Amino acid sequence: RAKEIGKRQIVVFDQEMKKAVAEKAEIQNNLRKAIVNEEFILHYQPQVDPYTGRVLGLEALIRWQKDDTLIPPNKFIGIAEETGLIVPIGDWVLKRACAFLKRMHDMGHHELTMAVNISALQLQEEEFVENVLQVLQENGLEPNRLELEITETMLIEFLDKKIHNVLNSLKENRIKISLDDFGLGYSSLNYIKQLPISTLKVDKSFIDDIHDAQDCKNLTGMIVTLAHQLGLKVVAEGVERPEQKEYLMRYKCDAIQGYLMSKPLPEEQVIDLLKGHLQS
Ligand code: C2E
Ligand code: MG
Ligand code: MG
Ligand code: MG
Repeated sequence: RAKEIGKRQIVVFDQEMKKAVAEKAEIQNNLRKAIVNEEFILHYQPQVDPYTGRVLGLEALIRWQKDDTLIPPNKFIGIAEETGLIVPIGDWVLKRACAFLKRMHDMGHHELTMAVNISALQLQEEEFVENVLQVLQENGLEPNRLELEITETMLIEFLDKKIHNVLNSLKENRIKISLDDFGLGYSSLNYIKQLPISTLKVDKSFIDDIHDAQDCKNLTGMIVTLAHQLGLKVVAEGVERPEQKEYLMRYKCDAIQGYLMSKPLPEEQVIDLLKGHLQS
């Protein structure tokens, strides 16, 4: 009897495994087609100066427009990374985001920066730095207007001599690097200090923990202060409430990003949003 149940469970397990593998293969297939058919779009979320309300930069965030639904990146970036498809997808993101930044500069927003999320797999590509420089040049953009975001966990996992050299080379070429989702990877600031990065993006989970502007027990303020002592710029992610913004201003956080200011927007809506404050 027990043996029968055991067998049955193995069969069910086996079927589920097969189903999961088939589903993954299907997404993988569809992703390949999506590249060819240009089914991806970018939305842009403003990074705002909390003291003036000015938009300092934009972060490009990919979506997959499949039939009538907009699929969020968490549903496909993982598979794209596992299959290597993140490399051509990431290339497209970089080109598209830089072309839009160029368009914004031409409209008079000369100081605006663009942040692009990069997977560690892209950093391992032989021609990565040259490729980025070429995209910048094709669009006539200053390298210091581009910021590449790499998650803390991913960087720590993949960091070796080669990737370190890539980061150094990006820095030498004045391209900015920011550490995304900071605080989730448990790396010390002392370790971070040795990396050629310019910005820390404090993860939303830390911002969520801010309940009151005067809250001295929250870790975020300490992170901001220490990061500043190391000469890093600090961006807070996922700011949703006014008291979080006030808290971050008390600690002199450089930029804030979150639904309180704006959710990620399609190109035309970004243009409308920025019409309000054309730099003269
Ligand atoms: P991320 O780079 O940390 O981006 C921040 C995420 O938080 C975005 O989700 C954004 O829409 C969301 N967010 C921003 N403000 C708020 C807020 O106030 N409240 C809440 N609840 N959420 C907020 P999204 O667009 O779904 O992207 C998820 C992740 O997918 C990104 O996290 C990034 O790691 C990855 N990703 C997005 N685009 C790309 C890409 O082009 N390439 C790569 N490699 N990864 C990407
Ligand atoms: Mg990011
Ligand atoms: Mg993040
Ligand atoms: Mg994230």
